[in-house]
Amino acid sequence: MNWLKTLFPRSKKIPTPKRVPRAEHPISRSLLPSGTLKVLYGLKDAGYEAYVVGGGVRDLLAGMEPKDFDIATNARPEEVRQIFRSCRLVGRRFVIAHVRFGDEISEVTTFRGPITESHERDETGRILADNEYGTLESDAFRRDFTVNAMYYDIRDFSIVDFAGGLDDIKAGVIRLIGDPELRYREDPVRMLRAVRIANKLKFHIEKRTAAPIRKLAPLLREIPAARLFDEVVKLLQCRDAVANLRGLREYGLLPHLLPHADTAMARPQACDFIERALENTAERIAADQTVSAAFLYAALLWPAVQARMQKLCNGDDGHTNIAIAQASDEILLESQRHIVIPKRFSVPMREIWALQPRFDMRRGGRAQRLLTHPRFRAAYDFLLLRAQSGEVSQELADWWTQAQTGGGLPPLTQAAATEEGEAPRKRRRRGGRGRRRPGAQPVAE
Ligand code: ATP
Ligand code: MG
Repeated sequence: MNWLKTLFPRSKKIPTPKRVPRAEHPISRSLLPSGTLKVLYGLKDAGYEAYVVGGGVRDLLAGMEPKDFDIATNARPEEVRQIFRSCRLVGRRFVIAHVRFGDEISEVTTFRGPITESHERDETGRILADNEYGTLESDAFRRDFTVNAMYYDIRDFSIVDFAGGLDDIKAGVIRLIGDPELRYREDPVRMLRAVRIANKLKFHIEKRTAAPIRKLAPLLREIPAARLFDEVVKLLQCRDAVANLRGLREYGLLPHLLPHADTAMARPQACDFIERALENTAERIAADQTVSAAFLYAALLWPAVQARMQKLCNGDDGHTNIAIAQASDEILLESQRHIVIPKRFSVPMREIWALQPRFDMRRGGRAQRLLTHPRFRAAYDFLLLRAQSGEVSQELADWWTQAQTGGGLPPLTQAAATEEGEAPRKRRRRGGRGRRRPGAQPVAE
């Protein structure tokens, strides 16, 4: 088929699909959620093909718990809607059916058509219009990695493996289907997916798949900033966040997502701070606690905000509040050129940052007011991270920990009382250039 040759321009050997019978693979119906099974059987009973595909099959075969189970079918979205009462069609260009059973929503996608040379692309090779239906085969070769192109068939419980995904699962390899450069050009987000899925499965990215990433990383600039924001959240708000961040740096992808974080991470203390924040988030996810993208992004950009603030203050501690507000505005604005940070996140981020200097003021009413600030909890968690990475003293963090217990404000140590008893104005008059807080490290941008 011609379109297959387009996908494998330099390769003589185009993979042939393999059907693996139920007895030879470990996926059983008992591993699938009841909603998924209902959708599969609903489609089958109405005379259509229905498969579980993608991350669900991949993760089960790799011995992991899948996040979701996507379903592929030859039924058109309108036909899916006629089968299930609880079906909603979403998406404008390529319509997808969402079928709900109880709390479970299954995503049902009609087989996609092949990518051909006549597809509308931009000047970098990125596919623009993409809304044709196709066959099981064309759908499989549209997918990104071999391990994502395996289909569990509800008719006989076999797995159809189109591109050697089963072998790659066994070998622990993430491999793009087809010519890697072409596939990244079609959709540069696949570079981010390679890093994320490899770390999730503890697989390695195969040599040919890894090779062009560095060179093609700038193509991420072509991706809408909102899509990149979602991808970054998937990469950094998960259990593998630290490994993902390191991967993004290793492959030169981070400068095109969060250039400020990338530059800051050249400094060991900033790197330590950011990685601690990600670890902290990962631990919270593992413990089923809530995590917020605002906190995460606040941490990723904090070293840059701080460096900018120091530049603006030029050693004068007297105008910290104004400087931090200006630094926050500038860093957020510069970051938005790459990824969109929605307002519902950027507003709390600003607040978390703005509250940090207020932790230094522990006397009387100011401390009390800070304790009752609606954003106190997030700002305090942020302070703890700063203390762990040595940016502020542990004594300061401990004091605020105690202050929340309700028994009144704890006493200040002699050193802290002396430090905080001096107004910045007084210090300036004595000719001082503004003393640093104990434990604070100088930061240079
Ligand atoms: P996870 O759900 O664990 O994040 P996933 O691989 O299932 O991983 P989804 O975004 O749910 O990721 O996508 C489902 C499937 O759709 C993938 O397994 C893959 O087959 C296909 N897919 C997703 N994104 C792309 C892409 N950018 N290019 C080609 N195929 C893709
Ligand atoms: Mg998925």
